[in-house]
Amino acid sequence: MAILIRNLFVFFLFTIILGGSYGLWVLEHRLRTVSYSEFRYCLLNHDLVSTTFIGNRVIATHKAGDQYETSVPNPEKLISELQAHNIQIKFKKDRSEQVFQGIALLYVVFLLLTVIISLSRKRKLEEEEKNKFASDKLILPNSDQNQVTFDDVAGIPEALEELQEVVNFLKNPGQYKQIGAVSPKGVLLQGPPGTGKTLLARAIAGEAEVPFYSFSGSDFVEMFVGVGASRVRDIFKEAKTNAPCIIFIDEIDAVGGSRAGGATASGQDERSQTLNALLVEMDGFASSDTIVVLAATNRPDILDSALRRPGRFDRQVNILPPDIKGRKKILSVHGARIALSAEVDLDKVAHMVPGFTGAELANLVNEAALMAARTGKKEVEIKDFEQARDRILMGVERKGMIMTDQDRNVLAYHEAGHAIVAKTLPDADPIHKITIIPRGRALGQTQQLSVNDRSSYNYDYLKARITILMGGRAAEEIAFSQKTTGAQGDIVQATEIATSMVCKWGMSDLIGPQAMAVDDSGFLGGASQRLEMSDTTSEIVDQEIKKLLLECNDEASTILKQQYYLLKQLAAILLEVETIDDEEFEIIMDCHFTDKIAAGIEETHQCQTCPAADLCIHSKLKE
Ligand code: ADP
Ligand code: ZN
Repeated sequence: MAILIRNLFVFFLFTIILGGSYGLWVLEHRLRTVSYSEFRYCLLNHDLVSTTFIGNRVIATHKAGDQYETSVPNPEKLISELQAHNIQIKFKKDRSEQVFQGIALLYVVFLLLTVIISLSRKRKLEEEEKNKFASDKLILPNSDQNQVTFDDVAGIPEALEELQEVVNFLKNPGQYKQIGAVSPKGVLLQGPPGTGKTLLARAIAGEAEVPFYSFSGSDFVEMFVGVGASRVRDIFKEAKTNAPCIIFIDEIDAVGGSRAGGATASGQDERSQTLNALLVEMDGFASSDTIVVLAATNRPDILDSALRRPGRFDRQVNILPPDIKGRKKILSVHGARIALSAEVDLDKVAHMVPGFTGAELANLVNEAALMAARTGKKEVEIKDFEQARDRILMGVERKGMIMTDQDRNVLAYHEAGHAIVAKTLPDADPIHKITIIPRGRALGQTQQLSVNDRSSYNYDYLKARITILMGGRAAEEIAFSQKTTGAQGDIVQATEIATSMVCKWGMSDLIGPQAMAVDDSGFLGGASQRLEMSDTTSEIVDQEIKKLLLECNDEASTILKQQYYLLKQLAAILLEVETIDDEEFEIIMDCHFTDKIAAGIEETHQCQTCPAADLCIHSKLKE
């Protein structure tokens, strides 16, 4: 609108100036107007040479050469009189009206033109704005002064390792082609907000030194309404001309969310058109185009399954919140950018903020620096970090989960319980990883690896599995004499397995090889549905399931009571380091899992020989 008003203003100003100067010119050059009587006087005096009639007006040329003008009341009469005087008579059509009309018409045309041009210009500017906004997001690493590399990404080494291959491919596509290896086309980075997915994508581009095209799925819903599909095609076209390169799609769930979402019909349409365009483009580029599409989401659960098909985002990299070692590394990356007092122990800082993501840690460092600056300090001290943490924790509502110390303590015992039971039972899968970092809905996690992908399970294995599941709550009960809600998931799983054992796999002597339930989905049976049966049979089934569960629970309890010292140790170590991998677990077990300790003689343990001395709480206690 502003453009229109401005242009109209300019237009009118122009008219006034033009009109004014024309008026002046006219005033200057206008013929002298004389009265009719004066004209008649000259006529009778034989002073006139010629006359020109323009309608009712006459322009007379005097003998002396000057001209003047007058209005004539009765032109016909005058004409005969002039003829009598032998004065030359000319006639000119009176065009002034037409000229005036012409000018008015022109004026209106110009006015309209101004309006039209202004409006179209406005639209064009808006369009440009939109495009500019969009192309702002197409960032070339060369233009990016602080180029990001893997050095800037800390605390997620597994993800870096997995993505190193993408970097290699972008750097030496020829090598891959020569061997005939199919290039990675699409990689889905999934993890909670703030864990560094965007950072990682940029770092890949930085490492491989290729252009980085980035846009966000939510742009398509908010900004490119109606043109989403064509924007996608544009981006891919542009990317192809600049290959090798990376296309990064943040929040891909905004367009790639499964179509069951609650959006309006038109929004749905827009989304599915955009999504289809994306799929077509991804399917379309040949492996000769060295383009890798990275996408990030924190809602992998709602993604349209079409996105994960081979040739699309067939690789998934999980990016999880960092554990304590990761937090320390991230803190040192960000701490390097501020003036840090030499006394600050980042390890200590990392301990203060369990559950913080990379983004929250970056924020913490920044807040601490602000705190220090506010109080006029030259360097950031540990106190500033403490204040910054309190401010962040109290000020902002945290999206993730922050646990109280007591919660963490209980969780550590719970996970340690699972792990120790698993280690003790000969039929169990080996421990892969134990962690007390909350992720998703599960609080902690004890992951086991199946040694060989088993397709069938025997009785002992299944019982071991239930016993391990019971280990969590058994540990809580032993250590704190209380039950918590944390065991809910374990109990559900354990019950499912026990139900299947009794009802489907004929593993109960009382029931025998008779199907009591059907169906299969999910792990080891999933939700099973009991078949029709008599009340008495139903009762026996229930008793058998219960018996199994109680047996396993008792066994877990017994093991953990025997290994109480070990349980305490492992829980303490978990609280300290938050994540223990398979190797570390073995070391800790070798060191602590001895008969002596099992017998409850704590003091005799020789920590000097423990290869995981820094993990070993015992040595810490001795200090
Ligand atoms: P996401 O895309 O997963 O939501 P971002 O990549 O946008 O998270 O992270 C936001 C900021 O947090 C980054 O710019 C960076 O400063 C910081 N950050 C997050 N994760 C890390 C990490 N692993 N190492 C270093 N900094 C990180
Ligand atoms: Zn558990």
